Parts: sequence; C-alpha cells; structure tokens
Amino acid sequence: MALPPEVCIRGAGVVGRTLALLLARERVRVALVAPAAAAGPQDVRAYALNAASKSLLESLRGWPDPVNATPVAAMQVHGDEGGEVRFDAARQKVDALAWIVDVPALERQLSDAVRFQSRIEVVAEPVAAPLTVICEGRASVTRDSLPVEYEVTRYSQVAIAARLVAEKPHEGIARQWFNDKGEVLALLPLAGQGLALVWSVDQLRAPSLMALGAAEFDAALREATQEALGNLTLSSERASWPLQRATARRWVGRFEDGGAWALAGDAAHTIHPLAGQGLNLGLADAASLAGVLKDRDYWRSVGDPRLLRSYERARRSDVLSMSLATDGLQQLFAHSTDPLPALRNWGMRGFDRSFFVKNWIARQAMGLR
Ligand SMILES: Cc1cc2nc3c(=O)[nH]c(=O)nc-3n(C[C@H](O)[C@H](O)[C@H](O)COP(=O)(O)OP(=O)(O)OC[C@H]3O[C@@H](n4cnc5c(N)ncnc54)[C@H](O)[C@@H]3O)c2cc1C
Repeated sequence: MALPPEVCIRGAGVVGRTLALLLARERVRVALVAPAAAAGPQDVRAYALNAASKSLLESLRGWPDPVNATPVAAMQVHGDEGGEVRFDAARQKVDALAWIVDVPALERQLSDAVRFQSRIEVVAEPVAAPLTVICEGRASVTRDSLPVEYEVTRYSQVAIAARLVAEKPHEGIARQWFNDKGEVLALLPLAGQGLALVWSVDQLRAPSLMALGAAEFDAALREATQEALGNLTLSSERASWPLQRATARRWVGRFEDGGAWALAGDAAHTIHPLAGQGLNLGLADAASLAGVLKDRDYWRSVGDPRLLRSYERARRSDVLSMSLATDGLQQLFAHSTDPLPALRNWGMRGFDRSFFVKNWIARQAMGLR
C-alpha cells in the first residue's frame, strides 16, 4: 500500500475480516493485523447465522458454498418437563430461520476475499492509523491494556462442541434440549446427516464428558436427546470453551498518543452460545461502524469522536437486550426448586401458542428488525 492506512484492525477473526472488507469497499485503506497463526486443531464449530449476517457476508463474497451453509427449516426447543416451542420458517414466511455455517469454510472464504482486495494490507504487527479497531476476541490484550472495564460474569458452564452423524435424517431442524440444571444441548443441521453439537454443561461435569470414550459419549448424547435422531456418532474431536457473559463499559476512546480506538465483536461483548447470536452481534457491529464511517461528512476523520460515540450508542442497546434475553433464558432453567420447573414448561407451552410474541421474537433472532 503506497499511502499509510486510515484504519488499523487488530484481529483477523470473522469480525475483523468482515470489517476490513466493508471499509475497503468504501475506499478506506486498511491494515489488518494477523500474526502468523500457530498450527492448531481445526475449529469443530458451526455457527447459526441469521439473514442479516448472510446478506452482509454475501455482499462481500464472504459467504461459503451451499454445502457449508445449511438452511434451518424449523427450530424445536424442549424444556425439562415436556414444554416445547417450535418455530417454522414457512410460518415466518422466510426461506430459512438461520443458516448453519461451517466455521473453517467461513474463515477460508473471508480470507480469500481479503486476499483479492487491494486496499487491505495484511500485516504482522499493529501500525499507526487515525483509527484502530480492536477485533481480538474475548481475551483481547489491546483492550486489557486500555482503561476499559470489561465486566465479566462467568457461567459455571463449559460448552462442548463436536461434529456428529445422526442415524435418522435431521430434516433441516435445529433442536435444543434444556435440562433442570440449566444445561443446554443443541444439535444444528449440516449437509447430509451431519450435525454440529453445542452442549453447555456444568463445569464440574464437563471434564468427565470430555474424557469419555467415543461410544460412551455417543450413548450419553442419545440419552440426553431422548433418541430423537436415533444413534448419534462422533465424527470429530471434541473441543470445549468456558462460558461467560461480558460487556465493555466503554467501546470507544483515544490512545495516549492521540489515535482513536473502537471495540467490535467479542472484544466488546460475549454472550452464552445458547441463542447462537454472538457472531451475529459482532457482524452487526462491523456493519454499524462501517456505516457510520461511510456516512461521515467529508471533512471528518475516521477517528472523529462524535462518529465513534454514535457507533457505540447504536450498538450498546442492541447488545444489551440480546445479552439480557440470553442470560434470562439460561437462568430460567438453572433453578429446579418448585414451582419453577412446572411454571417454565407451562410458560413454554403458552408461548408456543402465542403467535404474535413468538413471531416477534423469531424476527428479532433472525436479524429482521
Ligand atoms: C461453543 C460456541 C458456539 C458458538 N456458536 C455461535 C453461533 O451459533 N452463532 C453465533 O453468532 N455465534 C456463536 N458463537 C460466538 C462466536 O464464536 C463469537 O461471537 C465470534 O467468534 C466472535 O468473533 P470475533 O472475530 O469478534 O472474535 P474471535 O473469533 O475470537 O477472533 C479474534 C481474532 O483475533 C486474533 N487475535 C487475538 N489477539 C490478537 C492480537 N493481540 N493481535 C492480533 N490478532 C489477535 C485471534 O487469533 C482471532 O483470529 C459461539 C461461541 C462458542 C464458544
């Protein structure tokens, strides 16, 4: 790049790469900081991405091929005492409620798109720029070096992710089971009979589940899913993540040397994965920040504090409401003293019949506000 960058993005995860592509499309010169990655195991996760994220990524040529992005035709949520809620794409009059996207395929697609964008320079070290956007994920060292409080509430849970093959066809249905300890097991449909597992379990139980032999783990899954899909067989390694809910008190500011900074994605907020919304929120951050910079008066710099504060205002409330909703749902199932179990399952059945509330919630989750 002949001219110096206007924006330096630290962290080349999905949020960092998406933001770099959005800015470059608006003719902004970007330095994307991506230190050489140490070879590690392949990410076994698949993300549930909503319609807003899909159209954003498609517009950037960052959406994977159909084999790696499976549409969700319906969603079934099972409570611990027979409660059930079902959402259907057809009833919502949409093609799909979400798409289950293979994480390595998504990262490859975005990385190819970045390679073909001449306004993005991938660098190994941070460079000076009027604006630095910190997209380093939840353990961001740059955020931690700033006077920013990142308020973390740890759940006493760990998410175990893996790939499975089901005996019975999944029919494009994403299924979730809550138990009376607040544990949540999600099976997300992939191509063929494939499934992505996200099992949020008590942190004391997680090590023994991780250590089970494959056949015993399959049996534990079969029991927890009430044999809805018959036998489930592990087809990958298992990986685990401790779970937390967190939000930064400030999302924007200035470094001591005067350059501006902003946080985006998991560096600004993390939520429980039970609603599959963490990355959807991060992509909405990238879209919002790029939109604010695009619409700025020609005489304002990309690091203008007014612009950055309007980005912070626009995103904080959205993130807060999703974070509270997800946390509330987790807490609702985390207590088993009477009459809560009966009440929450009765509530689920009532909710399942309340078309308007259900419709409204479904559209929020799909990013169709
Ligand atoms: C089990 C599980 C399931 C999930 N399922 C879903 C789902 O279904 N749907 C959904 O929307 N979300 C889901 N999420 C949330 C999703 O994983 C995150 O919200 C998303 O990965 C955040 O993206 P990010 O780019 O902000 O951060 P990250 O993915 O953490 O990327 C950060 C990047 O920055 C790099 N980096 C870190 N430090 C530095 C540094 N100092 N300098 C340069 N680079 C650095 C890292 O190497 C990494 O490449 C799930 C999370 C978990 C744990």
